[in-house]
Amino acid sequence: MSLNRRTFLGTAAAVTATLTTPMIARAQARPRVVVVGGGAGGATAAKYIARDSQGAIDVTLIEPTRAYYTCFFSNLYLGGFYEFDDLGHTYGNLASNYGINVVHDWATAVDRDTKTVRLAGGDAVPYDRLVLSPGIDFIEDSVPGWSLASQSVMPHAYKGGTQTQLLRAQVEAMPEGGTFAMVAPPNPYRCPPGPYERISMVAHMLKAINPTAKILIADPKESYSKQALFEDGWQRHYSGMITRIGPDFGGDNVEVDPAAMTLTIDGVVENVDVCNVIPAQRAGHIAHQAGIVEDNWAPVSAYDMSSRIDPEIHVLGDSAAQGAMPKSGFSANSQAKVAANAIVAALTDGRAFPPRFANTCWSLIDTDDGVKVGATYEASDEGIVSTSSFISEVGESAEVRAETYRESLGWYDAIVEDMFA
Ligand code: FAD
Repeated sequence: MSLNRRTFLGTAAAVTATLTTPMIARAQARPRVVVVGGGAGGATAAKYIARDSQGAIDVTLIEPTRAYYTCFFSNLYLGGFYEFDDLGHTYGNLASNYGINVVHDWATAVDRDTKTVRLAGGDAVPYDRLVLSPGIDFIEDSVPGWSLASQSVMPHAYKGGTQTQLLRAQVEAMPEGGTFAMVAPPNPYRCPPGPYERISMVAHMLKAINPTAKILIADPKESYSKQALFEDGWQRHYSGMITRIGPDFGGDNVEVDPAAMTLTIDGVVENVDVCNVIPAQRAGHIAHQAGIVEDNWAPVSAYDMSSRIDPEIHVLGDSAAQGAMPKSGFSANSQAKVAANAIVAALTDGRAFPPRFANTCWSLIDTDDGVKVGATYEASDEGIVSTSSFISEVGESAEVRAETYRESLGWYDAIVEDMFA
């Protein structure tokens, strides 16, 4: 592997170890796993492969950002429940605790014939197994009038970090009695309840700082995740503030004009003060470049998350077409452990355990009013299938809702520790 000092960013100890000739010779004798994307799927996979192989596998994690800002709980930042800094996590522990080579760069190409990943900085990193967990990219032109060039005017805030900060700043700067609009995405997309938790959190913020403001949602879907729970919550906490226009009334026929700050729904032009456009989504660009995508997503085997097109590539999280699991951080983390176990077993002649998966999506509607939906899953030849499920109920007591919110706080702390500590 050729890495230079500028792109290699582990701890001082890890850098020293990898740059000395004997260590390189030893590292090259080990099987090599390259992980692209240091998010919920990739960071977890890198850690578990390095940890469970006890150094027998050489793990390289490629991630352009030095700090990963979670999308999960970014809505709570919009609502004023979390600080922005609470969402940021760095990669130092993965390098120092597990000996992972953390490389801050973009993967620009996968050459499946030579089994190498090319980086924007020019390096080529060889692999025996490749893990791709690049999250989502947007389908350009899915919302007429919107393109990535307009994201600083009409933010999507559907990738973590500065987009979320921009959206909050825009909400805070809205004129008194102004309009916040959201163009909701079509299925499938990351975090099915995410847009509606976001509406709840924006409403919570506006109720405090701008109580005559209005919220308008143009939604191409007939129905959405936890709909009854959100509608009940909006009625109880934000009555008269939120209007959702579904496909029956043209919510699937929208157009935006970022220069004029208008949202046109079925020919009716609305002036808006904030327009949160969440476009249609597809697997991260690098998965397309690798040639392992069909119909926007990368089909995988549910047994080990390996690509159905190239079994030496494993695809995790949002980019994968895996079956019944929703695209969530919890799902990506769960899938990463299944893939890590299979990869360690394959490369070290170890034992693979039967795959089991779990997911819970929590949403906060207002202070101490938390709801959840979740399921457990197992692998089948067709894909990941659900074995049991649960969902909060309308009319639950305040104590149950407060406990659900507390559970979600515990989950956040646990998953970021599982990924990064
Ligand atoms: P990501 O976590 O997005 O990681 C992808 C990483 O890959 C990124 O760090 C990116 O920089 C990197 N990358 C991309 N391309 C390349 C490349 N070419 N080279 C190198 N690196 C690359 N999930 C939950 O479980 N619970 C929640 O409460 C929740 N709330 C959410 C709220 C919102 C508003 C949103 C938008 C999402 C929420 N999610 C939640 C969903 C969750 O964030 C995603 O499903 C999860 O992050 C997917 O993990 P991933 O590994 O597939 O992608």
